[in-house]
Amino acid sequence: MPEKKRVCMICGKPSDASICDPCKAQIQGEAIEKKQKVEREVKIAQELEKEKKKKT
Ligand SMILES: [Zn+2]
Repeated sequence: MPEKKRVCMICGKPSDASICDPCKAQIQGEAIEKKQKVEREVKIAQELEKEKKKKT
């Protein structure tokens, strides 16, 4: 039975885990960035809504 090589599913480099640590960190960093971006956009939308209510 051939030995199964474990490699990172993201970068393809040998890794014990399915995703190596640098890739995991990168993915988590991107996820946090995306989350913050969405939260910022929601905040802006809420501010715009407030402004609308003030005027009317
Ligand atoms: Zn990787």
